[in-house]
Amino acid sequence: MDFDALIEKLKNAYGGHDFEKIMSAFEFAKKAHDGQKRASGEDYIIHPCAVAEILVDMKMDVSTIIAAFLHDVLEDTKVPDAEMAAVFGGEIVTLVKGVTKFDKLKFANKIDEEAENLRKMFLAIAEDIRVVIIKLADRLHNMRTLSVKNEESRRHTALETLEIYAPFAGRLGMSQIKVELEDLAMYYLYPAEYADLKQKVQTKLTERQEFINKVCSEIKVRIDEMGIGGEVYGRPKHFYSIFNKMRRQNKKFEEIFDLIAVRVIVDSVKDCYAVLGVIHTMWTPVPGRFKDYVAMKKANNYQSLHTTVFTKFGALFEIQIRTKEMHEIAEYGIAAHWKYKNPQAWSDSEFGGDRLNFIKGFMEADISLSDNKEFLEIVKSDIGQHELLVFTPKGKVIDLPVGSTGIDFAYNIHSELGNKCVGIKINERMVPIETKLQSGDVVEVLTNANSKGPSRDWLKIVRTTGAKSKIHQFFKREMKDENIKKGRDMLESEARHKGYNFSELLQGKGLSAVMKRYMFTSEDDMFASVGYGGMSTKQILFKLIEVFKKEKKTEYKEKGADAAAAEKKETVGGIMIGAYHEQNARYASCCNPLPGDPIVVYLSKGRGAAVHRKDCPNLKGLEPERLQDAEWPTVIENALNANIRVTVVDRKGIFSEVSALVNNLGYSINSFSGNLLGTDASGITKGDIKLSVKIKTMSELNALLNKLRAAKDVIEVQRF
Ligand code: MN
Repeated sequence: MDFDALIEKLKNAYGGHDFEKIMSAFEFAKKAHDGQKRASGEDYIIHPCAVAEILVDMKMDVSTIIAAFLHDVLEDTKVPDAEMAAVFGGEIVTLVKGVTKFDKLKFANKIDEEAENLRKMFLAIAEDIRVVIIKLADRLHNMRTLSVKNEESRRHTALETLEIYAPFAGRLGMSQIKVELEDLAMYYLYPAEYADLKQKVQTKLTERQEFINKVCSEIKVRIDEMGIGGEVYGRPKHFYSIFNKMRRQNKKFEEIFDLIAVRVIVDSVKDCYAVLGVIHTMWTPVPGRFKDYVAMKKANNYQSLHTTVFTKFGALFEIQIRTKEMHEIAEYGIAAHWKYKNPQAWSDSEFGGDRLNFIKGFMEADISLSDNKEFLEIVKSDIGQHELLVFTPKGKVIDLPVGSTGIDFAYNIHSELGNKCVGIKINERMVPIETKLQSGDVVEVLTNANSKGPSRDWLKIVRTTGAKSKIHQFFKREMKDENIKKGRDMLESEARHKGYNFSELLQGKGLSAVMKRYMFTSEDDMFASVGYGGMSTKQILFKLIEVFKKEKKTEYKEKGADAAAAEKKETVGGIMIGAYHEQNARYASCCNPLPGDPIVVYLSKGRGAAVHRKDCPNLKGLEPERLQDAEWPTVIENALNANIRVTVVDRKGIFSEVSALVNNLGYSINSFSGNLLGTDASGITKGDIKLSVKIKTMSELNALLNKLRAAKDVIEVQRF
């Protein structure tokens, strides 16, 4: 690697401030990769430099060159994203991350799946097409230096190049890269054929050199006479295309006549047709071989006139006529656009706002000439709006509607994968299960064989009807008689334990509230879900009891109102022990009773009356004759403490977000503490927040709990 030559080249191509920015990327990468070696034993920095050089030769914009220098930094070194962003800005980090994301894809490597994957991958990553261009340059340099790798990795890389990367380059019209990738891949995959072909082409070229020179100079003389400036040269077809032609058409080398094409490069479209006219007067065109890709572009924007003529010596040869600009596009394809556009024009807004229009503009051309109509249709269907393309860790593409989550993804692959899902990783990071997927994400479903099955809450999270119906199916299947019976028994005994009569709880509005909350289709459905362990008795009883108590309270209130009407007296302040208002009762700190909770009063000898929740475990040790049932007054004068525990996904800022939420709702916080709970089996790191808030009514408390439950990254909210 000649660093000085590269620097000189950069200075000439970019200069000024751009050159300085590129050089700082060079230095940054050099420092980051310091000490790392390539498989060849050379310093690692040689690789990013070579990739950048390929892109400089393609006349790519400054950001692409900077990203090329940095393309392996995030993946292979300890430099954090933020540091790179601080020095080079968000655009560069996006490009580098895009290249890294591409590296994560593992291709299926099967011919029949290749085309489909290719198209979809292309769209998924079309967020910024420069990512693909950098990746192709990266692959090209890796192919050029493949000899140092072992046999197995050489074959694998060469095959992947031939099946995935080269067609991809072709699709983008980048024929120069495509041709080199194909020839390098052939060299490793078909070494004998490659050597044989190379030798034969060489011989043939030597034989025909004089003839080619003669044809070229005859054309040159004629167009000079017409006053058309231009370049005329002969160019052998590349090895892989000859090899392919021989295989496809089952021909011997000797039977391939168009080994060499003559190219005429002129200034204008008018000149192209003028040259064509002249050539057709010089030699006879072969019928059916004339193609006008100038008037009708190929799908990848390729433009050129092609004709094949008979010479007086009886030999056929192909002539390609095009302008300089068409030639750039033929060689560099989509990458050529950077040369003709102001690099500033390729800012995020152009890509972000309307990125598919850009791709469409490039790919649309003329459908009748396209070799792949379906591809164009996919591009045209405005895929970015409605469809999401994500990948399995093995590189299989899954399409889902926009708004889908990892659970939709899991069920899309297999019902069992969905049913056993316990967590989702996106791009190798654990995420909350309801996280929406983005195109290009690599999604991994974490499963656990002991999983009790899907959660009812998933029905609210999933986007696809497929996932919804599979979750419903699961619950249906679990609705066996034994589960129903078992569930009912469990609920009954737990309710009894809490001091309630279960059938009484079912009689009020609580049942329908629970059905709605957990999306049960029937009472049996609810029992069954408890029976097989998909749902706990606690979850169900909590809601039933909550509603039950509310109803009782209303009843009590109604009675109270009657009494008030009779006595003109309202129950304000102290709790009621029978008809007596105890104004000085204190509230036990062991169970923190709140209005609505069933309560008892303990009348101690020295310390007056203490209010406990009826289910407070501390009551067990007390003398029963000192305990008296009590009721809440309709209005409380002093707010009471409610202790709330909030379980959250641990991330930066979550603790302060929760406290801000509570404060902003107007509650005053008495105490607040947060601590880490560590990482659970599914890989989610949880944190625990305990807070104590002043509350006056039960509905106030419920409103707060619901707000907390709805907050981002909150897993569970409980009173304690
Ligand atoms: Mn690389």
